[in-house]
Amino acid sequence: MTEFSRRVEAVSISGIREVFEAAGEDAINLGLGQPDFPTPDHAREAAVDAIRAGKADAYTSNKGTQELREAIAEKHARDNDLDVDPADVIATSGGSEALHIALEAHVDAGQEVIFPDPGFVSYDALTNLAGGTPKPVGLREDLTLPPEAVEEAITDDTAAFIVNSPANPTGAVQSPADMREFARIAEEHDVLCLSDEVYEHQVFEGEHRSPAEFTDSGNVVVVNACSKAYSMTGWRLGWVTGASDRIERMLRVHQYAQACASAPAQYAAEAALSGPQDPVVEMREAFERRRDVLLEGLTEMGLECPTPKGAFYAMPKVPDGWVDAVIDRGVVVVPGEAFGAGGEGYARISYATDMDTLEEAIDIMAAATEAVR
Ligand code: PLP
Repeated sequence: MTEFSRRVEAVSISGIREVFEAAGEDAINLGLGQPDFPTPDHAREAAVDAIRAGKADAYTSNKGTQELREAIAEKHARDNDLDVDPADVIATSGGSEALHIALEAHVDAGQEVIFPDPGFVSYDALTNLAGGTPKPVGLREDLTLPPEAVEEAITDDTAAFIVNSPANPTGAVQSPADMREFARIAEEHDVLCLSDEVYEHQVFEGEHRSPAEFTDSGNVVVVNACSKAYSMTGWRLGWVTGASDRIERMLRVHQYAQACASAPAQYAAEAALSGPQDPVVEMREAFERRRDVLLEGLTEMGLECPTPKGAFYAMPKVPDGWVDAVIDRGVVVVPGEAFGAGGEGYARISYATDMDTLEEAIDIMAAATEAVR
């Protein structure tokens, strides 16, 4: 009989995919975690130009081109007031690979990784793949991650804790005070804070701050990507930045697993990061309008939903049978438990779809809500 590793047996194919497959082809898909906008033209053109000029044919440096890493460093200075050395950046195949190499490089067998529950599905899976032990912690009523719960969960075996703001699946945005606390905890407990900031540009209320702004301890590693900010999920371009010794260890994993991020995507990302930022603002404004319409619809249905202040997800509390009733009527939403036990009794609704479709879906959800009451 074929034997597989215990690490891989601890992981299963994401519940989100299963929902898509169950829903059928004509369904309205509010299950997707990607913006419904085109990649900005100047980013596409930069990749095409690089391909035509023969610049994208060969491996780049393992960490990515110098120009891309400089554009990433400038982005951090512009948006986060962070002084990042381009040498301390690795361009990765999306935020996904960035999370993977960060956990591979920091987690020993049996060590614990603390993360939000409900939280992004990769945190649990990548912890298992690294041989670690997942330690999900519950959220506040407003679906933010309480720093005190993270601090209480830390033991001698803790390798890292993950912070994700704005968050998938909740749309919650941590306050600057929380981010400062996460930085303090990383420093005082000398434990890695892995800050997943892929939704940083989708904030409608409050502001995005990185825990990296609040500590010089070198204990914060930032994961980011062009995927959500520039609607570039298909390009597969993200990055990781942190202290030099941590970057050097993550590079060991990246070098053997990936060699380098895709070269055409690197040119596109450089243009996206250093070119005009209007598409980012346009997307954010569109998401905010849709969020307001969705929230109003959920309120009219009598569903309680903490106001999502960022990303493009809402996570209402839903009655038993609601998710199935909605899916049966042709709208895909994801059951909260796909994101951890703490998601039970909730559903994740992605509003990365045009307004007409969203309004049609709201009517269908209202009918489903009536039916299950
Ligand atoms: N982090 C979070 C919180 C996400 O929601 C996602 C994608 O859904 C990622 C990371 C990975 O993004 P990428 O497409 O860049 O790999």
